[in-house]
Amino acid sequence: MGKYNVLIIGGGSAGCVLANRLSADGRTAVALVEAGGRPTDPDIAVPQMWPFIQGRDFDWCYETIPQPGTANRRHAWPRGKVLGGSSCLHAMAHVRGHPEDFASWADATGSSRWSYDGLLPGFIKSESFSEGQTAYHGTEGPLPVYLPGDDVNPVISAYMQAGQSLGVPKLSDHNGPELIGTTPNSLTIRNGQRVSAADAYLFPVLDRSNLTVLSGTAALKLLLDRNRVTGVEVLQDGKIQTLVADEYILSGGTIANPLLLMRSGIGPEEDLARIGVPLLLRREALGQNLQDHLLGAGNVYRSRKPVPPSKLQLSESLMYLSAENLTRSEGKPDVVLGCVTGPSVSECFDAPPPGEAYTLLFGVTHPTSRGVLRPSGAGLDDKPLLDPAYLQTEADRAHFRRALEYAREVGHSEAMSDWRLEEVLPGRNVRTAAEVDAFIARAAITHHHPVGTCRMGADEEAIVAEDLKVKGLDNLHIVDASVFPTLTSGPVHAAILAVAETFAEEMISH
Ligand SMILES: Cc1cc2nc3c(=O)[nH]c(=O)nc-3n(C[C@H](O)[C@H](O)[C@H](O)COP(=O)(O)OP(=O)(O)OC[C@H]3O[C@@H](n4cnc5c(N)ncnc54)[C@H](O)[C@@H]3O)c2cc1C
Repeated sequence: MGKYNVLIIGGGSAGCVLANRLSADGRTAVALVEAGGRPTDPDIAVPQMWPFIQGRDFDWCYETIPQPGTANRRHAWPRGKVLGGSSCLHAMAHVRGHPEDFASWADATGSSRWSYDGLLPGFIKSESFSEGQTAYHGTEGPLPVYLPGDDVNPVISAYMQAGQSLGVPKLSDHNGPELIGTTPNSLTIRNGQRVSAADAYLFPVLDRSNLTVLSGTAALKLLLDRNRVTGVEVLQDGKIQTLVADEYILSGGTIANPLLLMRSGIGPEEDLARIGVPLLLRREALGQNLQDHLLGAGNVYRSRKPVPPSKLQLSESLMYLSAENLTRSEGKPDVVLGCVTGPSVSECFDAPPPGEAYTLLFGVTHPTSRGVLRPSGAGLDDKPLLDPAYLQTEADRAHFRRALEYAREVGHSEAMSDWRLEEVLPGRNVRTAAEVDAFIARAAITHHHPVGTCRMGADEEAIVAEDLKVKGLDNLHIVDASVFPTLTSGPVHAAILAVAETFAEEMISH
């Protein structure tokens, strides 16, 4: 294998964007290294199947350590091990976040590139929006973003009307200037099928002669010589080989990036000593700042009449709200509701059969709890110790109680009376703050948005600088969810693509 100009490790959401954009000139020799293979499971494309395809052979199948904030439960964290990465598992909701979410990124880095205005060209460039071009939307991008209309499930329409009847503003879609309000989810679906980042960005350009895709190839460790990466050791077909490039980009995601760096001798001194890896570059903050969204699953209602199956992806509308009151229309949201066309409960509860129930999910948009990822060993197969520190702050617990309160207000409103027979969960016996907290601890499930283990920042501890270069190394960048300093209000995929688009644009122009 020859020498590449750019070697990208991880062919997931961000990696697919980079592989496309950085090879677009036809000259730059780009290699994309992906541990998984091509997505061959037909269920990946079926939007309604998304909750049922976890745990298959294209999932890394991570798990958290027991969480004191959620009744000592371990939470499964699926992550895609396949070209397209976690975009082959995700729920297809396309929500950029509130513009203010990115103000804190600009503050953390001192760079307006990561403000909403800085990222807006990247958001627009990535998408092809079904409702046409506006100041906020593009129609020329690789990723279809579909705003459903008549195909929204009737129980979801009733839930959005219920919100409006209580004074929640109506939005045209999630990705304009405001986020608080009711709207169907914008979805990365075309002709009724999931479009992954690989479908959108990678597969259409596989015939570029300057793009090499090495699937089934796992990065074991980076080889370092002082302040440069000189190669990456990979495992392919049972053999260890070394790949060489001028520039290296990590796009392995929030979990795999810090693990690869630690296996390579970069990270917290104590962790590396524990797993027997010689320390080459001390980075105490690597793996810290782990954050994730939770959802309460759920506020379940037995339905008065059969709930028709979803024509979309089951959870068809996220409703962002201020914790102050239900009618505030501006600013960053604090809590979120979601309506699912069937029963949606954590492993702690039984639920009525599909068709006989619907669920209001509820959660917190900006959790203040911060966790940590630690390695358990120096091997590729050593599962990390993932501690998102769920619900460790009173602020998070208070917002969660508020979110359930709102779910119940919407669920018990007059506008839902055609559907509601009775509340099944939490049920009428759960009323006091202590009862609600205990219910939430058992109901909370991941919303699947872990970020932040290689955060960007201007401070000394940050892992990457504002240009996403790893501090202390000249030719290594990190580009994906792991660099987020903080969570966005909603699902993170749209922002990951915009970060990758923005980075690629900068890299090309330099
Ligand atoms: C079940 C589920 C539902 C979700 N729902 C939504 C949603 O509706 N909307 C939304 O916005 N977001 C959603 N998300 C989150 C979103 O999909 C992810 O945050 C996003 O895809 C992560 O992108 P990434 O580029 O950071 O990492 P990934 O897409 O995970 O890519 C990392 C890639 O690196 C590869 N890799 C890892 N280690 C190595 C190695 N050592 N060598 C080579 N390759 C390696 C992996 O196999 C993977 O392909 C969901 C996620 C899940 C799992």
